[in-house]
Amino acid sequence: MSTEPPSLQEVIPSTSDAATTGSQSQSAPRSPGADPQFIQVQNFNFFYGEHQAIFDVSLDIPEKQVTAFIGPSGCGKSTLLRNFNRMNELIEGTRHQGDIRVAGKSIYDKDREVITLRRNVGMVFQRWNPFPKSIFENVVYGLRITGQHDRKILNETVERCLRSVAIWDEVKDRLHTSALGLSGGQMQRLCIARAVATRPQVILMDEPCSALDPVSTVKIEDLIHELKRDYTIVIVTHNMQQATRVSDRTAFFYIGKLIEYDETKKIFSNPSKKQTEDYVTGRFG
Ligand code: ADP
Ligand code: MG
Repeated sequence: MSTEPPSLQEVIPSTSDAATTGSQSQSAPRSPGADPQFIQVQNFNFFYGEHQAIFDVSLDIPEKQVTAFIGPSGCGKSTLLRNFNRMNELIEGTRHQGDIRVAGKSIYDKDREVITLRRNVGMVFQRWNPFPKSIFENVVYGLRITGQHDRKILNETVERCLRSVAIWDEVKDRLHTSALGLSGGQMQRLCIARAVATRPQVILMDEPCSALDPVSTVKIEDLIHELKRDYTIVIVTHNMQQATRVSDRTAFFYIGKLIEYDETKKIFSNPSKKQTEDYVTGRFG
């Protein structure tokens, strides 16, 4: 399926109409009262040293929906995602221009603590990363570091979170055994449970299923459907079928630019840009 990508001139229009934001009036139904602009990315540029990875991206992400980021490897999907909770700042020599707002407030505001932001905007990685601790301690990790040691609260949190990722019945009798004894799919669900334990508003997922077998993948996709009732989810995926199965809106990126952003069914059935069509039909990437 992968062929040589078309030349830059072919895929990147020279005018600023490259980024098409879909009309809000056509949005998929969302929970009543949900904010259609819950995350606002505004003229965002991002640099790793001299290397610019994101070019003037603007998009609004609706609350309590699933938004997918797609595009060929290296187009900046993970970079943009990691900016939503300022994780890229952990990499030396990086800088940004523009703004990202969550729930109406800039994530760069002076009075915004990064720790609080990361608790509110949780992250799940491609390669599940449970700590070498018990299942129980993995779930309550975020609470413990804030000084919460009340046994009753911790117990309730563990049950609530493990139920919310549909793994409670599988592990309830071995909560105090090592998380590393779980299967890959179970570990990924545990990592999602750990992310929801701090009651975030947003969950970022960077290719959460790409290292999983098909059965575990279906379970995570079902879980994403459940979770969007309570959380705003942004998922990076290189799997087109997955984007169509799990997401309400899809943003297509190419070499650091947002090419098209619209309802998922529009992106996959009738995209406005030729380069989007070429990508979603597998002609390149
Ligand atoms: P994607 O997730 O779409 O595959 P990335 O966001 O990982 O793309 O990468 C976007 C661009 O930024 C690529 O050119 C990549 O080489 C570069 N990049 C990613 N991470 C780093 C890093 N830690 N240091 C320097 N450049 C990076
Ligand atoms: Mg990536």
